[in-house]
Parts: sequence; structure tokens; C-alpha cells
Amino acid sequence: MAEKYRIAEASIFASIAMMLLKLIFGLLTGSLALLSDGLHSALDVTAAAITWVALHISDRPADASHNYGHGKVESLSAFGESILLLLTAFWIGWAAVNSLLGPPVRPDTRYWASYCAMGVVAVAMLTDVWRSRLLTAAAKKYESQALRADALHFGVDFLISSVVLASLVAVRIGGTHWAHVDAVGAIFVAVVMVGASLSLARQSIDILMDHSPAGLEASLTALMKAVPGVVEVRRVRARQSGNRRFVDATITVDRQMSMEAGHQIATSVEVAVEREDSGMDITVHVEPAAVADGLPASQSPT
Ligand SMILES: [Zn+2]
Ligand SMILES: [Zn+2]
Repeated sequence: MAEKYRIAEASIFASIAMMLLKLIFGLLTGSLALLSDGLHSALDVTAAAITWVALHISDRPADASHNYGHGKVESLSAFGESILLLLTAFWIGWAAVNSLLGPPVRPDTRYWASYCAMGVVAVAMLTDVWRSRLLTAAAKKYESQALRADALHFGVDFLISSVVLASLVAVRIGGTHWAHVDAVGAIFVAVVMVGASLSLARQSIDILMDHSPAGLEASLTALMKAVPGVVEVRRVRARQSGNRRFVDATITVDRQMSMEAGHQIATSVEVAVEREDSGMDITVHVEPAAVADGLPASQSPT
């Protein structure tokens, strides 16, 4: 558990370090690209901090005011991150279109300045590859949507930096003819970002809206039907909250069975489901089925 916090904390510190590096070298070299990238890193600090807070809230146990725990905050945080990504995409796209329409940017003729900028961007790219890999692994391990959103964000940031680096190199080698290469690359990145943030928004809204987890109802029904004593599985409802899946199910058992035996079957169903998936939290309701006395099941009291 502590591992995911360490990764989230490392991501915050990486964002702070990148922000300082970009702003300091931006001011030293007077590079607008580096300065605006430094502002983006300031946004990254916020995003990484929100993720860290979300992890802490999400791990709080259920309490009197949140009976199902606090797992949904992960989806809320991921939704917030998708909005942040979408805004960044529009910002990048808008700046790119402006630079395409405006006069070409004159490349920095000072060698030291452009090599400094290339170095800083390369360090940022390595940092983003490193942390998005760590975050992806942790998101999978802890089923954390907040961490997955962060992994996606810094994966996209890697793309942004690679466009910046490519344009710095192109302008250094090819001069002014290549001054628009960054704008074309940036528009491409903005389109990728819009797609990524919309799909992240969809995934988080699905969980916030209790969209039933795909295929879960069918597989749970089959699993419960296989438990000895279960006559019918009438209803299964499932919803996701953080790394937990809350399920309630209605099963029928032979109506002539004792109450104690019927309850035992319900318990067996719960055990079978929770053994299959330890993230499952299931409640089973039992109804009587007419089996032995030949009464149609539909006439049995509910
Ligand atoms: Zn970012
Ligand atoms: Zn609470």
C-alpha cells in the first residue's frame, strides 16, 4: 500500500523539479517555449498533488457518512485530470494555430541557449517515461483509476516534450525554414490529447454513474448458479467504487428448506464470489422457489 503513495509523491517532486528547471533555464535563455513549458509543469504539480490527496481519501475505511467507503474519489480525481488535459490540449492547439498564422519564430542564434533548452527537454522526457511506467504498473497493481489518469497524463506530456525537442533540433539544423515544424507537431499532439482526455473522462463518468462493469453480471450469474442448492439467480446488480465492486444478488432456494439451510446457501454464494475476486463485496437476498411441491416458481411468495 505504501508503495503507491511513494510513487505518487515521487511524481509530485518530479513535477516540482521539472518546473524549477524549465523556469530557471527559461529565464536564463529567454526561451518562451521553456517558460510556457514551465507553466505547464506548474499545472502538473497540481495534478500530481490532487492524485495524492485522492489516494489518501480513497483508502479511508467506510464511515457513518460514506457507508460504501470512499473509492469513488479516484474516479472524481481522474475526471478532474481529464478536464485538465482537455484544457491543456486546447491551449497547445491554440498556440500552435497562432504560430502557424503569425510570422515565423526566429531561431535562437546563440548555440549555448538552444543546447540548454534541448538538454532540459531531454531530461523532462526521461522523467516522464520513468514516472508514467511506474504509475502504470502501480495503477494496475492497486486498481487505481487516479494513478491510471496520472500515468496517461505524463505519457501525453512525453509526446509534448518530444515535439518540442524535435522542433528545437530542426530549427538548429535547418534554420527558419523549419520554424513551423513545432506548430504542426503541436497540433498533432493536441488532437491525441483530446482523444486521450475524452476516453479518460468516459471511463471515470462510467464509474461515477454506476455503469455496470462489462460482462460481470453474466459471469457472476454463472458462478452463483453453480453453487449447490441455488435454484435460480433472479437478479444481479454490480457497481464499481475505487478498487471495490459492490454486488447485490437475489437467488432462490427450495422453499421447503429450513431457514438455516437457506441462509447457509446464501453464505456459500457469498464465499464463492469473494473467493473468485477479493475486491468483491456481495450481499445476497434469498427467495423461496417451488421445487418439490410442483408449484410454478412464479407463484411462490416474494
Ligand atoms: Zn502535464
Ligand atoms: Zn466519509
